Amino acid sequence: MAFNPLDWILGLFSLDVGIDLGTANTLVFVRNKGIVINEPSWVAVDKRTREPMAVGLKAKEMMGRTSGNIVAVRPVRDGVISEFNITRDMLNYFIGQVHEQSIVPFARPRVIIGIPAGVTEVEKRAVYDAAMSAGARDAYLIEEPVAAALGAGLPVADVKGSMVVDIGGGTTEVAVMSMGGVIVARSLRVAGDEMDQDIVQYIRTKYNLLIGEGVAEQVKMKIGSAYPLPQEKTMEVRGRNLVTGLPESIEVSSVEVRDALSGSVQVILDTIRDALDEVPPEVVADLMDTGICLAGGGALLLGLTDRLADDLNLRVWQAEDPLTCVARGAGVVLSDFEGMRHYLVSLERGSTRHRAA
Ligand code: ADP
Ligand code: MG
Repeated sequence: MAFNPLDWILGLFSLDVGIDLGTANTLVFVRNKGIVINEPSWVAVDKRTREPMAVGLKAKEMMGRTSGNIVAVRPVRDGVISEFNITRDMLNYFIGQVHEQSIVPFARPRVIIGIPAGVTEVEKRAVYDAAMSAGARDAYLIEEPVAAALGAGLPVADVKGSMVVDIGGGTTEVAVMSMGGVIVARSLRVAGDEMDQDIVQYIRTKYNLLIGEGVAEQVKMKIGSAYPLPQEKTMEVRGRNLVTGLPESIEVSSVEVRDALSGSVQVILDTIRDALDEVPPEVVADLMDTGICLAGGGALLLGLTDRLADDLNLRVWQAEDPLTCVARGAGVVLSDFEGMRHYLVSLERGSTRHRAA
């Protein structure tokens, strides 16, 4: 592209941000800076006024500990906005933080924001409107698998097919791409949160012990796995005994946790297999070279790559820094906005009204 000095100067004073509005974590990428915000997608809300009291990590820490009039909520459930006003307030807060750190504090940013592949027009519009009402100058949407693939450095523009499985908190997104577009996509509501629930259920059934979701998540991250570990591990878990009603601590092993997670892992596996069934044979042949790239926090589950590779007979690999792929992918588009515009999703004209949260 020809160098245009005016564009270059304007570029210095414009604020371009990419947002990964995840069900579990929200990340904000700023052009020329990188990721500046990486916080849980949680908001603590005053029930009477619906005013946000805390956002991000502070709000997540209140989970299961709030009382009276304050409730900690995740406004993005199952990958789409379930609470419009709270999502807008959360974005507003994060964009405000970007401003505080910025040399152009009053610039209204151009925003690229990720959406799951195959969401409805109304859902797209909700994300767009939330970004605009949070102070964006322009908002653009990108399908999360495309952003994840760009962030993972996959040859998305190539005719050769590539595949991404993004396992987040609320949803797992499976996508096969070729020539910059998604050719087969699957989305399922089994991902990190469901795995946490699996662990809660397992410990409840086996030990009569009730543990919190946050504790279950810790167990999953520390000793959860999808394939036998070279050295199995154990961990102490605290909760309330359902028979005595008293606090109790037990030791659980990675073998037990793998058992607890096996159902969810199987569902993810079946969905990938189902997507592969629909892929044209030429692209299947490509995938034998390019393999399957895992992104999202769920990609970090120990042994998941080995388990999937064994069952699918394909090379399965973890993206570098899987939790940040979508945000970095949005950043890739921001680095050459005009050249990469075709990766963005267009929005139908007309407006949609939202129910107040
Ligand atoms: P989202 O895009 O939905 O916000 P993320 O990609 O941020 O989701 O991933 C968050 C999920 O990843 C959570 O369910 C979290 O528990 C899970 N996760 C993070 N680290 C690990 C780990 N080491 N092992 C297993 N799961 C993990
Ligand atoms: Mg995600």
